[in-house]
Amino acid sequence: MTKKDMLNLLHKEEPVLRAEITALYSVLDHKLGLHGADVPITFGMDEKALGSYLPPSYDNEEQFQFSLFFIGFCMNNQLTKADRVNLYKHEYAHYMTRHISIPEKYNWQPGVHGSAWKYCCSLIGAIPADYYIEDASIQKIDYDSVLERPSVDHKQVQMLDTYRTQKMYANMENAKIKYEVGDVVTHPKFGEGTVQEIEQQPASVRLHIAFGDEIKIIDQKWLVKTGYKKVAER
Ligand SMILES: [Zn+2]
Repeated sequence: MTKKDMLNLLHKEEPVLRAEITALYSVLDHKLGLHGADVPITFGMDEKALGSYLPPSYDNEEQFQFSLFFIGFCMNNQLTKADRVNLYKHEYAHYMTRHISIPEKYNWQPGVHGSAWKYCCSLIGAIPADYYIEDASIQKIDYDSVLERPSVDHKQVQMLDTYRTQKMYANMENAKIKYEVGDVVTHPKFGEGTVQEIEQQPASVRLHIAFGDEIKIIDQKWLVKTGYKKVAER
C-alpha cells in the first residue's frame, strides 16, 4: 500500500472515529452538564503526541486534536479500544479543567497534569497519568492517594521558605554590580585583565574582561568567589 492510499484510508476512518469520540463525550457532557461534544475535533498525523486539547486562545478556536497515526484502525490497531477511550477521557479531563470549578483543595499541585486535572480524571474514570500506559487498568487506581496533598510538617515548610528567602537574597546580591568598566582584575590563570563591558542579568552580572588580546566573559559571582580581586579602586 502506498503512503497516499494509507492517508486516504485514514481519512475515511475519520467519521467513525469522530462518532466514537462524540458518543463518549456526549455521555460525559450529560453527566457533568458540559458541552465537550460540541468542541471541534481535528485529526492529524502526529507521531509524538496521541492527542491534545487546545483551550480557546486569541488565534485558535478551542479544539481536540487526535493523531490518526495512533488511533487509526488501519495503523495495525496501535491502541486497543480501552486505550483509545482512556486517551479521549484524558483530553476531556483537560477540557474539564477549563469548564468546571475545581474545589480549592485540589489546586495544590500546579501544571496541566496537576491536581486539578487529576481531580477531573477522577470524575470521569480517566487514568491520571500524563504518559501513555499500555493496558493500564483503571481498577488499580487509588484516586484518593493521587489527589491528596502530601502532608508536610510545619518545620519543613518553614525551611523551604527560608531557603527561598535566602535564594532571593543571593540573587539580589549576585545582581548587584560590583565592578566598573576599566577596573583591573587579576586571575590566577589569565593574569591581569581589564573590565570592558558589564552585562546585568536578572540574577547575575556578567563581565567581559580583556586578558591581553583575549576577551573572556565571566560571571561576577564566580569571579568574586574564586578570588578574583579588584585591583584598582577608582
Ligand atoms: Zn495531557
